[in-house]
Amino acid sequence: MPSKPELSLLIPCYNEEENLPVLFSRLESVLQTLNLNYEIVCINDGSKDNTLKCLVEFHQRDKRIKIINLSRNFGKEIAMSAGLDYTKGKTVIPIDADLQDPPELIIDLLAKWREGYDVVYAVRKTRQGESWIKRKTAEYFYSLIAKISTIPIPANTGDYRLLDEKVVKALRKIPERNRFMKGLFSWVGYKQTAIYFDRFPRYGGKTSFNYWKLWNFALDGITSFSSIPLKIWSYFGLFISFISLLYGLFLVLKTIISGVDLPGYASTIVAILFLGGIQLITLGVIGEYIARIYEEVKQRPLYLIRETYGIEDDLSSGFG
Ligand code: UDP
Ligand code: MG
Repeated sequence: MPSKPELSLLIPCYNEEENLPVLFSRLESVLQTLNLNYEIVCINDGSKDNTLKCLVEFHQRDKRIKIINLSRNFGKEIAMSAGLDYTKGKTVIPIDADLQDPPELIIDLLAKWREGYDVVYAVRKTRQGESWIKRKTAEYFYSLIAKISTIPIPANTGDYRLLDEKVVKALRKIPERNRFMKGLFSWVGYKQTAIYFDRFPRYGGKTSFNYWKLWNFALDGITSFSSIPLKIWSYFGLFISFISLLYGLFLVLKTIISGVDLPGYASTIVAILFLGGIQLITLGVIGEYIARIYEEVKQRPLYLIRETYGIEDDLSSGFG
């Protein structure tokens, strides 16, 4: 039985063939200076290019590089969950394959862990190579979710962080299908601390997150960590009822005092359309939650594995 690695790196890969050679060489130089026992678990998330072939070549050269090949593209959150199920290290660090998360930071993450922290998350001081709109929307999203979430989710923090084995075990127990990992990493608690870094642009290839995907990602985050969007409508309804009551009283008094006249077409239409709009929005919000409840109750496996390289556990079931 080989001894337990001190560090497991977890790399979700989707169409990353261009980045892998540089990534591995940069990782290797950092890991060499650290001089510890490590493994690198790569998850091929249904890549359409030669990512898998490239990974297998690296695995053949260095058995510490291990591969989980998923049956199709499941998305980054699920790819990471799949990886977390099979890492063996005393610490696990998920890191992007595109070198946006500088590997050199691993040294600082481990140093904090040795001080006794269970989660060390890397906060982005700056984000280079990302458009103004992406930075701004990310900023609004983080401040919104910080306000309405039931647990604090640190702003400007990606998935690049160190997790102690205890935390990984806790994460494995979470059965949710809708996995907003940044939220779950905070939800588990434990002793957490931050370090700061500058985020680089992608090395090669292009991001697979367009605005529509990011919007849905934001909805996933909000719906799985807050029920405020469901609840505000009752207060809104109460408010509107109260205003309507006052307006009703005003109309009754006005009719008694100055008799009947028949203007009010505009106000009627405005009120109907306004309330119709509000009702559709509330239905939409309820729909967002119901769709997610539906996803959960179906209880489909979180991911399916086609094959693995270098991973000893029997994965024949491959169910998350
Ligand atoms: N990724 C993945 N599955 C996907 C999309 C992305 O495993 O469906 C991986 C990708 O290979 C990279 C990481 O998730 O290692 C971050 O993706 P990307 O760089 O596209 O996102 P961004 O940095 O733009 O948020
Ligand atoms: Mg990236």
